[in-house]
Amino acid sequence: MPSSLLEAFLDHAHRTPSRPLLTFEGEAYTYGALAGRVADFARGLKALGLQRGERVALFLENSPQFAIAYLGVQHAGGVVVLVNTAYKQVELAHILSDAEVRACVTGASGAAELAPLREQLPSLQWLVTVEAPAVALPASLTVVPFEALLSKGAAATAETLELPRPDELAVLGYTSGTTGRSKGAMLLHRNLLANVKAVTEAWGWTEKDKLLLALPLFHTHGLMVGLHGTLYTGASVDLRRKFVATEVLEALCDDASLTMFFGVPTMYGRLLEEAWRTGVKPRRLRLWVSGSAPLSPQLFGDIEAELGARILERYGMTETIMNTTNPYDGERRPGTVGFPYPGQEARVVDVRSRKPLGRGETGEIEVRGPHVFAGYWRRPDATAESFDAEGWFRTGDLGEYDADGYLKITGRARELIISGGFNVYPREVEEVLASHPGVAEVAVLGMPDADFGEQVVAVVVPAAGAPAPEAQALVDWCKDRLASFKKPRRVVFAEALPRNALGKVQKHLLRDKLTAAR
Ligand code: ATP
Ligand code: MG
Repeated sequence: MPSSLLEAFLDHAHRTPSRPLLTFEGEAYTYGALAGRVADFARGLKALGLQRGERVALFLENSPQFAIAYLGVQHAGGVVVLVNTAYKQVELAHILSDAEVRACVTGASGAAELAPLREQLPSLQWLVTVEAPAVALPASLTVVPFEALLSKGAAATAETLELPRPDELAVLGYTSGTTGRSKGAMLLHRNLLANVKAVTEAWGWTEKDKLLLALPLFHTHGLMVGLHGTLYTGASVDLRRKFVATEVLEALCDDASLTMFFGVPTMYGRLLEEAWRTGVKPRRLRLWVSGSAPLSPQLFGDIEAELGARILERYGMTETIMNTTNPYDGERRPGTVGFPYPGQEARVVDVRSRKPLGRGETGEIEVRGPHVFAGYWRRPDATAESFDAEGWFRTGDLGEYDADGYLKITGRARELIISGGFNVYPREVEEVLASHPGVAEVAVLGMPDADFGEQVVAVVVPAAGAPAPEAQALVDWCKDRLASFKKPRRVVFAEALPRNALGKVQKHLLRDKLTAAR
């Protein structure tokens, strides 16, 4: 048994070096070829002077270099810090200084973003660049081209490489910042291994699989499900720089060797529109997976009708990787995220008393098991608040088990609206409003109210091609379908909802906007 994901990958590379692993924009890597570069990268870092446990940020688009650097840092005994490529100076300065990174691997635009931050990042010493920087960089930063680092490593034969120990820190995953400032989740090598084992077993993932992966690798879904699962099972991946609906649909139609596609709900929505527009239909795949944000039962149904596939929806987060999944064999139930993975636990507790609740009762989801992270980096306060004495981690998500034990996520604990003493779950109101034919998208949130404490506000994007609905008609639509205290007191129309790279609605931005507009 391997004792880390890295070891599992190296075992495959050792046993079957010529097995195909990854294709990307016309390049192809076998297991052996990638492992060779991983070792060179690791030796190169050690030859530069990277010490065990030091942090290296990847501020990098999807590419083979991402995979090489990710595994190479781990093989050198370092800790990978994942950074969203959409981040600009404010977020970058926060994450890179919080993690006290010694090196950063990036491209030309990343280098330009970093250059003005030199003063705020005294620990940063090396910039490993996959493209020549277009701006002048401070002399105190050592710029090392990616290929030069590989050559340095290939020549550094005296540098010995070790395998990581299970309890060592592998990754600092920064949360998406959907509910506030992003925090660094400390994931140990044993967390990565336990979860990838559970996920690949549950989904019957084998070396025969080939995944089309257009999700960003800086995030859990793309990296810790897509890439980890591939590396662990000895499978292969068609990696894309980013998601482009036309290109993805084309590949799904042309490449008979693909067996799996993973996406976020917005990607499925775009694929569907593209399939309708062009009349092109993808081939049948073994597995379609959705996660990171709620997949509406409507979209689930449309995809089934159009693609003949019942999407498998699963639930995960940066801190714990994957928590629950709909069954691979057995009924996949729309609007739910299924059951805990083998060897992991998930329960629903009362928000105040923290006592476990029965089926059909809504509360906060807590999880426990070998996949759960070791705490927030340098945030003992946030760590202590998130765990109880028995090791249950408070996810911050609200949910309930249905009568058959399928878990349904009903929203975020922080977004629960308490209006006039009544609990209003935004997601329930959103689902009702989304079912109105004049509504394309909607976000419901609570805004301060002198009489009720909070009031329910709906931000609505009208459906294209239909006359925009009247605000009152939407309120009445809710009144007919929900208890009156849940109906929106205000309806605001917008052209689009602010979403992050993973398609999650950023309600704090909406809240700021609504506050400013008052
Ligand atoms: P932050 O913790 O910084 O506020 P975040 O929670 O969005 O940001 P991530 O760790 O990227 O950061 O996302 C995990 C969250 O995504 C989960 O806690 C859950 O709210 C949501 N999520 C993941 N999968 C699903 C799903 N299938 N359905 C609904 N929500 C999901
Ligand atoms: Mg979170």
